[in-house]
Amino acid sequence: MTAATNGTAATPGRHRVVVVGGGFGGLNVTRALADTDVEVTLVDRTNHHLFQPLLYQVAAGILPPGLIAPALRSVIRTQTNARALLADVQELELDRRVVRARGPDGRNLELPYDTLVVAAGATHSYFGKDEFAEYAPGMKTVEDARYLRDGILSKFEMAELATDPVERAEWLTFVVIGAGPTGVELVGQIAELAHKVLPKDYRSVDTREARIILLEGTGAVLPPFAPKLQEYTKKRLEKMGVEVRLNTLAVDMDHDSITMKGPDGLETIRTRTRIWAAGVQASPLAKRLAEKAGVETDRAGRVPVNPDCTLPGHPEVFAIGDMVALDKLPGVAQPAMQEGKYVGKVIKARVRGEGPPAPFKYFDKGSMATIGHRAAVADAFGMKLTGFIAYVMWGFIHVLYLVGWGNRLGTLYTWARALWFSKNRGHRIITFESAKTDVTEGRTTAGRPRPILPRAAPAMGETGSVPPRHVG
Ligand SMILES: Cc1cc2nc3c(=O)[nH]c(=O)nc-3n(C[C@H](O)[C@H](O)[C@H](O)COP(=O)(O)OP(=O)(O)OC[C@H]3O[C@@H](n4cnc5c(N)ncnc54)[C@H](O)[C@@H]3O)c2cc1C
Repeated sequence: MTAATNGTAATPGRHRVVVVGGGFGGLNVTRALADTDVEVTLVDRTNHHLFQPLLYQVAAGILPPGLIAPALRSVIRTQTNARALLADVQELELDRRVVRARGPDGRNLELPYDTLVVAAGATHSYFGKDEFAEYAPGMKTVEDARYLRDGILSKFEMAELATDPVERAEWLTFVVIGAGPTGVELVGQIAELAHKVLPKDYRSVDTREARIILLEGTGAVLPPFAPKLQEYTKKRLEKMGVEVRLNTLAVDMDHDSITMKGPDGLETIRTRTRIWAAGVQASPLAKRLAEKAGVETDRAGRVPVNPDCTLPGHPEVFAIGDMVALDKLPGVAQPAMQEGKYVGKVIKARVRGEGPPAPFKYFDKGSMATIGHRAAVADAFGMKLTGFIAYVMWGFIHVLYLVGWGNRLGTLYTWARALWFSKNRGHRIITFESAKTDVTEGRTTAGRPRPILPRAAPAMGETGSVPPRHVG
């Protein structure tokens, strides 16, 4: 066992802060402590700070992952009192004040702390139907977004190879489950790929034949938004060729179909692409904290915290962001960021022997979602905006919150090139192997590629025929 090994050596007597998670919450705590006499260890199981709101653009081949996921190590490069460690946190030993983590090679690490901040975020929730994970991947990480991108593009490649119209329709049917912002943004992008970007690139298949379906269990798209914005979004999606099915739940799925239950009863659709955008569940570390504090997690697995974000009964432990239940705040970036900054202030005041800052108060900056690349809805600062003006607002705010000027300028340049000048997507790289993984193997319930027997070979391979050229 190795205690607090890599990185800077511990300075005896200096207050040690361990931050678990380098997402919106964890990074903001770390930065807020830049001018404080503490030693911060930021431990994450990735080496980057991921800007999740733009993940769907990686899945659509618009942005390269690097622009939205800068290395944590470089983000805190100039903060000399902080270091980053790539490790998976396994256990939080509150009695001993030690975080136990595992390095990529399996080595055990012990990270002793005086103050602990846990900001481990959330993961997908399949609402008890974990077997769906094998057929309907979600999007939380860079790997997820790349996997989805490979999957979406591979299906168009397969449609080009298929000669049987029924099989081709199966490859060209895309079902997204969940019409929150992520689901709406994903179907918008798939519709643009199919109708605007790809048609001229294919010879045998007309990609405009793609069927894009959005399932939503409630009676409206974008459930948390105002009815006017919901109605606008639904109409806009339908105009883009998306079938919006409200009050409809996914009840079953297998390798090449999905069964849904809607107002007209059960229906099974043949498809090779289902994407899960329906629910989230707090990190398992929330349950660990709850058990140790003797409190219950809520239905989404979130641990309740005190108004100052401390764990009940443990003033030296803070939990923030998507993994906590506090004042019914939504699981979006702003609460995590604001809680992170606030906790930084609390720790700073304690270390300096000052009184605690005023209680945490959330400032709601509103919500936004894009619908394709020229329209969005925005409910912010008392205004409800739709269309291009909302889109510009969305773009401005998202670029502003990206980390680093290089990434901001790079994103603006890539958008200009992809969306305005070339009307193409610059990051459409897939390989035979990645397509094969997606179309024949799929993922296990744990989200890993899983070998299964491929379907019968399509007609072209047997006959050597070339699919007919599509005209128009
Ligand atoms: C696809 C998508 C789109 C979104 N769009 C928006 C949007 O448009 N607007 C908005 O406001 N919000 C959006 N959100 C939500 C927003 O991203 C989250 O609310 C926010 O990231 C929460 O911040 P956090 O710090 O709690 O967690 P995260 O940002 O998720 O960070 C958690 C970190 O903890 C690390 N971690 C987890 N477990 C461990 C472990 N055991 N050991 C070590 N490290 C660990 C993870 O690797 C991660 O880096 C979106 C989320 C997703 C997935």
